[in-house]
Amino acid sequence: RVEIHDVWKSYAGVPVLRGVSLDIEPGEIVAILGPSGSGKSTLLRTINHLETIDRGSVTVDGEFIGYARRGGRLHELRESEVLKRRTGVGVVFQNFNLFPHLTALENITEAPVALRRATKAEAREQAKALLERVGLGDKGGRYPRQLSGGQQQRVAIARALALDPQVLLFDEPTSALDPELVGEVLGVIRDLADSGRTLVIVTHEIGFAREVADRVVFLDEGELLEQGPPSEVLVNPHHPRTQEFLAKVL
Ligand code: ATP
Ligand code: MG
Repeated sequence: RVEIHDVWKSYAGVPVLRGVSLDIEPGEIVAILGPSGSGKSTLLRTINHLETIDRGSVTVDGEFIGYARRGGRLHELRESEVLKRRTGVGVVFQNFNLFPHLTALENITEAPVALRRATKAEAREQAKALLERVGLGDKGGRYPRQLSGGQQQRVAIARALALDPQVLLFDEPTSALDPELVGEVLGVIRDLADSGRTLVIVTHEIGFAREVADRVVFLDEGELLEQGPPSEVLVNPHHPRTQEFLAKVL
């Protein structure tokens, strides 16, 4: 369960998140929509403590990923502690962010081995199974530069799955892809939707959001303006800003 409570965040005095609250149930699939610069990535990144927050709180299964409460106040944790807590929350970025000097297979085994979750042999077996699952069973030996964008992104998803996170965050996972490669990545995410994991997806793919999301959240200028089932928010939005946004992108 992800609980975001009254989160505020500014960059150089400019507010980017303004009192955002959002509770996400285990297994729920939430799509975050909103105009460019509305704070979608920032919000997503606070869940994994890739961004600090100025006020409010973010917990995953009751735990602060980046903070500890001491004497009634929140103190930021050391990086090593953050890394440990972060393993329950996987993340997939727009630009894949694979290690260029490692093969697809090595990209996937890196974290489980480094964190001593598995031996090298176990991690390899698991990585092979994960590559199989994203349709790349025969590409384990390839380096990122030898893979298409869609294939790289599927490796990145397999890598995120390697630590078996209960929560997966996606930040515009298909927006760096050529149109003909979008489908294969959305297909992999669609398959994950039935895996019982919590998925939080920032996306501009409105059709995809309508199809897979349990809930759609609309962010504008750092405020959560509207949320609900896709059949309501995408079909019959109440807030004028949501209506305006959807009229532009649909
Ligand atoms: P997009 O759809 O373009 O990805 P977004 O909704 O993800 O946009 P964010 O990346 O969260 O938006 O950015 C929200 C605001 O915060 C923007 O005005 C952006 O310029 C600003 N911002 C984000 N990161 C930083 C940073 N590291 N330093 C300063 N300002 C930042
Ligand atoms: Mg963004």
